[in-house]
Amino acid sequence: MTTFKTLGLSENILRGVFAAGYDTPTPIQAAAIPIASSGQDLIGCAQTGTGKTAGFVLPLLHRLSMGRRPRGRREVRALVLAPTRELAIQVEDAVRTYGKHVSLYSTTIYGGVGMGPQIKALRRGVDIVVATPGRLLDHMDRGNVDLSQVEILVLDEADRMLDMGFIRDMRKIIAEIPRRRQTLLFSATMPQEVQTFARDIMARDAEFIEIGERRNPAKTVVQHACGVDHHQKMDLLLHVLENEPVENVLVFSRTKHRADRITKRLSKKGFAATALHSNKSQNQRQRALEGFKRGRFQIMVATDIAARGIDVDTISHVINYDTPSEAESYIHRIGRTGRAQTSGDAITFVTHDEKKYLRNIERHTGQLLQRKTYDDFETSVVLETEEEASNRNTRRKKNRGRGQHSRRRSSSRRN
Ligand code: AMP
Repeated sequence: MTTFKTLGLSENILRGVFAAGYDTPTPIQAAAIPIASSGQDLIGCAQTGTGKTAGFVLPLLHRLSMGRRPRGRREVRALVLAPTRELAIQVEDAVRTYGKHVSLYSTTIYGGVGMGPQIKALRRGVDIVVATPGRLLDHMDRGNVDLSQVEILVLDEADRMLDMGFIRDMRKIIAEIPRRRQTLLFSATMPQEVQTFARDIMARDAEFIEIGERRNPAKTVVQHACGVDHHQKMDLLLHVLENEPVENVLVFSRTKHRADRITKRLSKKGFAATALHSNKSQNQRQRALEGFKRGRFQIMVATDIAARGIDVDTISHVINYDTPSEAESYIHRIGRTGRAQTSGDAITFVTHDEKKYLRNIERHTGQLLQRKTYDDFETSVVLETEEEASNRNTRRKKNRGRGQHSRRRSSSRRN
């Protein structure tokens, strides 16, 4: 059996891992750690909640602590790029936790806050920087940071960074890092854009590992869909909160405005609720997140971007107040529950107009959401049964197959 000990990590790193309370590596850790510790480039296709953070942070710490640190002021030797500040903070948290017993310094760099403290931290000298691309580039432009000594570059949630339009910033940053380096790239999905980007910046012999089926949300999440009329969504939310064994609940809404409204109404009903979205200041967001983590708030209402990287192990339910129009968002959202070893529930509210999104999600993930109704909650919105959905998907596949067949035939005729 693979254990953290057999993965070849140094004693001091193992102490950090055990202090975090882990005894067995998750599959991505078991696969990634030996490759990354050996210094090879690695592309990891893994969803959030699989333990991928430790999968790159542990080998990174291992290599930096084993290598010789140049004399004098500490130089940035490892750079992790992440799409959002929340994720950057979370990754650096992991660096601090696992790296407690090695003498390495780290800092986070992200936008939305003053530059002063970040400049100070950089001047004092750090070994590891965890940054969002935009702000890091600002620092680079002002000469606040030198990346010429970087040995390890990590791109976390690369698909999301590309989605968010960071490609040019990323390329500019990477151009300042020595070519002789190790590059680790993690992504929940592997669209063409990510593959092309990886090919440009990574060694040709980069290892590729894929954990779990590419598009399927973590298996530990039970997924439900609930039909509801548009004007009844709040009532349904209250009904769910009262009838399900909820602990910590993350509610997703389509817009910031709606997130605020839902939060207000929940608070009025006596729930400890808070909102997380990008209209809030960085401090407000940190407070909301900390309060949610520590149990001061039972419910957090968030929008997609703000919720990236939320790492709270006790989220028992994710509720999609609005069905996400993109399947990728759906996967990221529900990945907030059922993290690592715990299981979770995801309930998606679907109005008549949102049925098309549900179909899209089911097609994309290849999984059917379990239909859920509550006896004492009436609604006029009836969802297609799982059987009907399954039959429709089968018919679609068949038709597609037939389409391809006839295309093939017609091309052979042309020849
Ligand atoms: P990640 O996919 O990196 O966001 O990690 C998901 C969650 O799994 C985090 O809350 C980690 O603290 C937790 N975790 C990571 N590795 C392990 C492990 N080997 N055993 C138990 N929990 C873990």
